[in-house]
Amino acid sequence: MKKFVGAHVSASGGVENAPVNAHDIGAKAFALFTKNQRQWVAKPLTGKSIRTFRNNLEKYDFHPDYILPHDSYLINLGHPEKEGLEKSRNAFLDEMQRCEQLGLNRLNFHPGSHLNKISEEQCMKIIAESINIVLDKTRGVTAVIENTAGQGTNIGFSFEQIRFIMDHLEDQDRVGVCIDTCHAYAAGYDIKTPEGYEETFKQFDEIIGLSFLKGMHLNDSKKGLGSRVDRHDNLGKGMLGLEVFSRIMNDTRFDNIPLILETPDSSLWAGEIKLLYSMIE
Ligand SMILES: [Zn+2]
Ligand SMILES: [Zn+2]
Repeated sequence: MKKFVGAHVSASGGVENAPVNAHDIGAKAFALFTKNQRQWVAKPLTGKSIRTFRNNLEKYDFHPDYILPHDSYLINLGHPEKEGLEKSRNAFLDEMQRCEQLGLNRLNFHPGSHLNKISEEQCMKIIAESINIVLDKTRGVTAVIENTAGQGTNIGFSFEQIRFIMDHLEDQDRVGVCIDTCHAYAAGYDIKTPEGYEETFKQFDEIIGLSFLKGMHLNDSKKGLGSRVDRHDNLGKGMLGLEVFSRIMNDTRFDNIPLILETPDSSLWAGEIKLLYSMIE
């Protein structure tokens, strides 16, 4: 098996519950928050929680290469103001350290927002500096930049912007990219049509490089092509439709990376995972 499909499962009650929740829906990969994503500061992970998490990975046969933790939505690594930036950098460092403690090797995040106070280019330079600072203080965890829908003042909606950030990083060995299908479509990449799909991933390879792809988020989109609105939908229920997911499941470029559902109705995840595996020809 080369496709590792799962969902962003709940870690409520402790990170050690995430692998159990993933196993329960038939997942071969999963995403999680390693702390409450709506709070700036969290209690450190306990030794017991870390041990149980690691034991559960073994018990349910999950390898760290197929686990894609997501950082808090409060963090803005491109924050235009000193206080917000410092808070974000500290919180991001804490999240990277939590991944280290859990034996995980990647952390997925949205690059940042300029909040209409600085230019896109200034914001991207701040984001790169943030990543540099945090990578310098951590070991073994790759910073995985997610493409965004470009909603509001969010940066990272084009492959060129992600490349610009990457070009300003000191350590190219610990940066990766995650493609979210809903975000790509909302940002104007027409992955719905066979031609648009080929063109999008050809561009991705030319501008960023497929070797940097460390995960994908499989989401349908409630909003249309180029809408710049980030609203996920369950597979086949939105504007993207099912065909693109069948293409992804049969595309060897997406072998051996975590393929994560972030669709809104979690009661459908087990069925969506089954459906995706059934698409493999
Ligand atoms: Zn996503
Ligand atoms: Zn989203």
